[in-house]
Amino acid sequence: MTSVDRNKIAVLLKEEAGKTVMAKGWVRTKRGNKNVAFIALNDGSTINNIQIVCDMKKFSDEEMKPITTGACICVTGQLVESQGSGQRVEIQAEEIQVYGTADPETYPLQKKGHSMEFLREIAHLRPRTNTFGAVLRIRHSMAYAIHKFFNDKGFYYLHTPLITASDAEGAGAMFQVTTLDISNPPRKEDGKVDYAQDFFGRQTNLTVSGQLEGELGALALGEIYTFGPTFRAENSNTPRHLAEFWMIEPEMAFYEIKENMDLAEEFIKYLVKYALDNCMDDLKFLNDMFDKELIARLQSVISTDFVRLTYTEGIDILEKSGRKFEFPVYWGVDLQSEHERYLVEQHFKKPVILTDYPKDIKAFYMKQNDDGKTVRAMDVLFPKIGEIIGGSQREENLEKLQNRIAELGMGTESLWWYIETRKFGTAPHSGFGLGFERLLLFVTGMANIRDVIPFPRTPKTAEF
Ligand code: ATP
Ligand code: MN
Repeated sequence: MTSVDRNKIAVLLKEEAGKTVMAKGWVRTKRGNKNVAFIALNDGSTINNIQIVCDMKKFSDEEMKPITTGACICVTGQLVESQGSGQRVEIQAEEIQVYGTADPETYPLQKKGHSMEFLREIAHLRPRTNTFGAVLRIRHSMAYAIHKFFNDKGFYYLHTPLITASDAEGAGAMFQVTTLDISNPPRKEDGKVDYAQDFFGRQTNLTVSGQLEGELGALALGEIYTFGPTFRAENSNTPRHLAEFWMIEPEMAFYEIKENMDLAEEFIKYLVKYALDNCMDDLKFLNDMFDKELIARLQSVISTDFVRLTYTEGIDILEKSGRKFEFPVYWGVDLQSEHERYLVEQHFKKPVILTDYPKDIKAFYMKQNDDGKTVRAMDVLFPKIGEIIGGSQREENLEKLQNRIAELGMGTESLWWYIETRKFGTAPHSGFGLGFERLLLFVTGMANIRDVIPFPRTPKTAEF
């Protein structure tokens, strides 16, 4: 046995020829003739395969037979300059060990292109495709860049709970968390379920947002962000909604809406630039395979100022557009994706930040404007996606907050701790939520949100 350390293919492809190397990975393809076989090997470290050249004088048919698409192998050999085009170096195989075979009759990822729908049915194997390898590497890079962005700015990463007792936001239907026997729950005299006997002694749910706890952090640490999973039991089967998705929620003391918008714009541009600077191999692949305008679109976003206008101005543009929308437009309507996309893609042709929405379509905690009708909300709208960020300046005035809560008929028992922040040392503050998968839709050019998360959770699907 040759003794040499295994190197990742990403590293080997950059090395100089003329040494013994070892690579381990999964066979993408094998082709050749009686004299020579070529194996394209991938180990996930890069979209690029390394070519393994097998001189058939050195290997028997018996040895080569189990090396088929999908098999996992360990190759030792000489790194040599490649004779063929398409790669600088390749491995002249000396030894091949097969770790695991993949029967060509049953292994589903044969060479031919597969539909995205089919790949969702084999989510356990789809990370081995070029497309998902690219998407998952970009997903990782974006997660890293998010932490780097905030860390470099002095924000603290705050961990907010996933199990909550407050449906504070009303942001979406919630998943209940319980240890009660749901086929026979304990009941109170009035017949209602007795949650006092449940694990937490009350009814609890999976969080729809970490914001309310995020505010507690901001009003102590100054600037914080959360980055974690959120859950919404909304039965919306759209290409932009998941039941389990990741959200980034910065929350900042002493920021007003303007600074909040500035941060959101700087943040997205930073992330897009990070992808262009660090993920170009994967982006080029996605650009060539799926979306010929992807890279141009990413470049254009980092060099344009986002348009800023009020909801009222936005409605005006939509009304004057002469467009027939599926959902009619009028002041007070909650904008649909088709409206958002019209503003971004047709009218302005760049990202848009809409502010000052009607208070009735926004959450209770948003800062009330003096007009009595609107709140200091801001949504960032993106091409192909619609809403990518939702945020606001928060209502810091105790009385106004309490009045709004009462107006909406919300119970305050589960929110007493939130309200106390306005009683003790309240401060102007703002924040927003960026849907991680919506960002990834934009950065990867994928068309469906199910294809930018490894194991999507959507209505009626929770396999894998
Ligand atoms: P939408 O109107 O698109 O459903 P929302 O108004 O419910 O969004 P927010 O409650 O403001 O969204 O959540 C903040 C961000 O989280 C959104 O801007 C979006 O990027 C993301 N987001 C919201 N719901 C989902 C979901 N079901 N799946 C994936 N991302 C989501
Ligand atoms: Mn929603």
